[in-house]
Amino acid sequence: MDILSHTITGIAVGAGVGNFVKPPASRGIFILIGALGGAFPDIDAISLWSKFDSTLGSWLHLTHTGEQIYCGKFWYSHHGFFHSLLAMALFGSLFYWIPFLKNKISKKKVVLKVHTMWALTFFLAGTFHLLEDMPTPDNIWGGVRLFFPFEVYIGGWNYIWWWNNYDLFLIILLSAMLAIILLYIPHSFRFKKIITSGILCIGIVMYCFQVHQRPVFIFDSTSSQYPKNEANSLLLQQSLLPPYLYQTMKKLDEHLPLYF
Ligand SMILES: [Zn+2]
Repeated sequence: MDILSHTITGIAVGAGVGNFVKPPASRGIFILIGALGGAFPDIDAISLWSKFDSTLGSWLHLTHTGEQIYCGKFWYSHHGFFHSLLAMALFGSLFYWIPFLKNKISKKKVVLKVHTMWALTFFLAGTFHLLEDMPTPDNIWGGVRLFFPFEVYIGGWNYIWWWNNYDLFLIILLSAMLAIILLYIPHSFRFKKIITSGILCIGIVMYCFQVHQRPVFIFDSTSSQYPKNEANSLLLQQSLLPPYLYQTMKKLDEHLPLYF
């Protein structure tokens, strides 16, 4: 799926976790860590950067081009190590260890619970990214390497196209907005945790429902079929959304300088 949807999913997760932590824990940090965690796995797409070969590729003496790496099955290829639970746990744990060590050195009191929740936020936001990538086409990788270092790729189910899943984006956006609103409601509001859990659960159910109610439209996900599949995906969106919403999303899509 597209990076914007992943990032907003991370924000929904971050705000959701933040609702379970008592102030004075900064609310904004949960949103920020959630966004970072949601976008993080796609850091492995850096090999597609136009200057990758002349910079990182040459400094690290890589024998393959950035494009070969991106489309390959090396551990550092797209959907490889960085799309695994292990990577999310390792990088997520830094949000616990770095403040912990820093406070230990400066002999400050350590707020362990908040740091644990930061680490959990990053891990969960990234895990949702991995789950969102699974229903995408099987072309190239055939899923994500969820259980790295095991070599099996999980996903590539051909349920949704790589991008322009406007209906899914709107569900994610709505869930994130509601979770953020709740985040700024005083913690004394006793139903805060229940409502947060309810919003996130309803969001997940609606997302899965939308994915599963799509007709099968990707019969051949190879690169030569990209234009056909993309056109079919857009037609599907047109049939799913009311005209005004579809037109608004399409305009947004055309104006964004990234795949959406
Ligand atoms: Zn991804």
